[in-house]
Amino acid sequence: MSASTNTPGTTGTPAAANTSTTDQRLANWVGGRWVDAAATDFAPVHNASTGQRIAAAPLSTAADLDKAVQAAAAAHRGWRDTPAPERAQIMFRLKQLLEAHFDELARLVTLENGKTLSEARGDVRRGIEVVDFACGIAHLLKGESLPQVAEHIDGQTTREPLGVCAGITPFNFPAMVPMWMFPLAIACGNCFVLKPSEKVPLTANRLAELVAEAGLPAGVLNVVHGGRAVVDAICDHPGIAAISFVGSTRVARHVYTRGCAAGKRVQAAGGAKNVMLVMPDAEPESTCRAVMGAAYGCAGQRCMAGSMVMGVGGAAEALNERIARAIDNLKVLPTDRHDDAEMGPVIDGQARDRLFDAIEQGRRQGATLVRDGRENIPREGFFVGPTLLDHVRPEMDIANTELFGPILAMQRPATLDDAIARINAIGYGNGAVIFTASGGAARQFAREVQCGMVGVNVPVPAPMAMFAFSGWNQSFFGDLHVQGTEGVRFYTRQRLTLSRWDDSYVRKHGW
Ligand code: NAD
Repeated sequence: MSASTNTPGTTGTPAAANTSTTDQRLANWVGGRWVDAAATDFAPVHNASTGQRIAAAPLSTAADLDKAVQAAAAAHRGWRDTPAPERAQIMFRLKQLLEAHFDELARLVTLENGKTLSEARGDVRRGIEVVDFACGIAHLLKGESLPQVAEHIDGQTTREPLGVCAGITPFNFPAMVPMWMFPLAIACGNCFVLKPSEKVPLTANRLAELVAEAGLPAGVLNVVHGGRAVVDAICDHPGIAAISFVGSTRVARHVYTRGCAAGKRVQAAGGAKNVMLVMPDAEPESTCRAVMGAAYGCAGQRCMAGSMVMGVGGAAEALNERIARAIDNLKVLPTDRHDDAEMGPVIDGQARDRLFDAIEQGRRQGATLVRDGRENIPREGFFVGPTLLDHVRPEMDIANTELFGPILAMQRPATLDDAIARINAIGYGNGAVIFTASGGAARQFAREVQCGMVGVNVPVPAPMAMFAFSGWNQSFFGDLHVQGTEGVRFYTRQRLTLSRWDDSYVRKHGW
């Protein structure tokens, strides 16, 4: 067992975050302390800007998970009975600590994920906003009541926590996505087991420390590292009541099916292929800036990334030239030493090779390669440059597959109707965006696109914490989405209590 704050499990102090050549073995956070996993296999964690290994995450086993579930179950009774306003006080303290450690957390995100410092700050900020929301938990948990539903009978609904919940998260938002889940689950009175992506375990470990410092009782939040085996163990474990999953559609479908088959409540958010539609009347300069940010922000590794742009009725020609010029000016740099980098590397060598293949495949299938991300990139690290493929047709792989990298595909539909039909044929359903000066076009678009988050002159319509992150179709499996009041409903179940108190009893005694 590792116990002090300088152990591998606690990597994330500024000193450790600056280390580029260590290969520290991380521990799990179980019952309020670092516990070495029984696992013998480890997954490498890289500094994506250099390609160097910086840590190793244990690929925990079902037995490792069971320890965490037992710790969570043991803590649940006391935590469930802690008054909601007291639970909220811990969220307020957590908020203060996250603000105090804001830059340290952002640098850790940059180190293990590769995104730019400003993107990492956004990652942490969006997570803090969920903590802000969870601070209002006492209000959010209030039920309904109706006195005298029948003679002498009053009715009241309350929202009760589920027990032990688990969260499984992807690599692309090491701070935000875990914080989509555990602050709200915990504020609702549940205990939680977080299984972060094995590619970015450092931020999750640091968050666990800060939550403990905020005063959360031991066992209420646990972190278990690992990959496929521990995910399947989460789906099967009888002590886990609910699973929140965020990741690719393939794994989301698997977790939803397996978790539901084991009788659990599951919300599973998957991948996406989000289209940005540009009408001929869109303001050219701001639209180009917006398209650049949506396509290449976080090196395209966002489930809300705009990975396809459709220029309607001739809008594509001018847009193509503007985007190409903007690409030429984009600063693609190692983010671990350039705070002014505008785009960083992708997560690992496998992702880079897959993206290089996709560029080649797009070219072979007939798209025009306007800018090639295999060229002019830093030599070390996992870099793919901003890529633009024009004249993409709906039947090409690149038009339908989530590539999850800085590759923008451009289509040229003749009309708005044609464009909407193409969008709706893709099958995912996270986001779709229109740039236009016409209210009529915007209204038709917003009513007809089959996806859950629509942007009108807003490039990335990702909701803030008070709204649910409402993917549709192949982008979401389940009923209640993460965040917002849907998140509160997901982590609680409703109880109706009917009470009969007959006051004739009082009168009978002459009181
Ligand atoms: P991923 O699906 O590979 O991994 C997600 C989680 O599942 C990780 O914790 C991983 O360890 C685990 N996992 C991976 N393969 C597994 C398997 N075969 N069986 C069981 N568990 C497995 O996703 P990723 O590459 O880490 O993240 C990128 C994906 O996440 C993209 O598709 C992106 O669109 C999606 N994403 C979606 C949202 C959303 O809100 N819809 C948000 C962020 C990311």
